[in-house]
Amino acid sequence: MSIPINSKFKGKIFKDECLATYTTFKIGGKVDYLVLPSTWDDVFFVLEWVKREKIPFKIMGQGSNILVSDEGVSGVVIKINRNLGKIKRISEEFLEVESGCLISELLSFLMKNNLGGLEFLAGIPGNIGGSVFGNSGAFGSSIGEFIEKIEIIDENLNIKNLEKSNLFFNYRSSNIKVGSVIKSVIIKVKKQEKDKSYNLILKYLKERQRKIPKLPSAGSIFKNPPNYSAGYLLDKVGMKGVRVGNVMVSYEHANTIVNLGGGKAEEVKELIRIMRERVKNYFGLDLELEIKIW
Ligand SMILES: Cc1cc2nc3c(=O)[nH]c(=O)nc-3n(C[C@H](O)[C@H](O)[C@H](O)COP(=O)(O)OP(=O)(O)OC[C@H]3O[C@@H](n4cnc5c(N)ncnc54)[C@H](O)[C@@H]3O)c2cc1C
Repeated sequence: MSIPINSKFKGKIFKDECLATYTTFKIGGKVDYLVLPSTWDDVFFVLEWVKREKIPFKIMGQGSNILVSDEGVSGVVIKINRNLGKIKRISEEFLEVESGCLISELLSFLMKNNLGGLEFLAGIPGNIGGSVFGNSGAFGSSIGEFIEKIEIIDENLNIKNLEKSNLFFNYRSSNIKVGSVIKSVIIKVKKQEKDKSYNLILKYLKERQRKIPKLPSAGSIFKNPPNYSAGYLLDKVGMKGVRVGNVMVSYEHANTIVNLGGGKAEEVKELIRIMRERVKNYFGLDLELEIKIW
């Protein structure tokens, strides 16, 4: 398998690239090809190739919600980066945002333009594509509530617009099919003084600082079960500080696993098994994964 590069391709392609570097967990094996496209034409070029050759592929944003297995990923990973992250104001209160835009960049843009409404996302290290795919949220709100339309590249490589009436966002999930690529979204924002946005962002970041571990992680491992906080349940069953090899349940937040250095995906999976087992035994509740395992 080799990518038939043509002169129009502007991005970068790495063969047998270790994916650990590209995830916030800093864990995981190699992929046959990692593609960093520079333009949307690059994305189409690679998608056409993988479809034609029936090569498996995955889409990555900032890699902040992914655990890559130690044996790696076969086929191609297309990482949608910041260069595919333009923001365009299309009317007073609507923005068109490409999927590679970082959450932090979007919040800066909003502040500069006296717009707001999305401050609750401050501190989430993902981009718009990954956040919309998994309906990221915090402090009782989630991004899906603000999405009016999504432009996707579907499995037949057609560009499709999914209107609000066809979009379903649930807790940490959406109805965007795995295999579709989110190209851009229309987001509803509101007029808001810069200072107000700034103060809200500071407030949320301060709240986060108490719970977010400093070591590499992928954020929350499990979704909160209905009426419970997964972190609370895991704390109650004594998971904080439990260690397997080089990974450990964080002392700051019992629903987060940190990589102490050189951690392995197998160790994370074993810790996940223990966390689930303890919560099942003590509370009779099944914890559902929030992170995606590749
Ligand atoms: C310290 C820390 C704190 C966090 N806090 C929060 C929080 O408060 N709330 C929260 O909800 N999450 C949180 N997360 C998890 C994570 O940051 C979010 O889920 C984030 O929005 C994922 O975006 P990403 O770009 O990193 O996606 P990735 O992890 O790269 O991908 C996640 C999924 O989205 C898919 N995907 C990515 N881009 C596209 C695209 N363009 N088209 C189609 N599919 C795509 C991928 O295939 C994958 O299945 C946190 C993570 C960390 C490390």
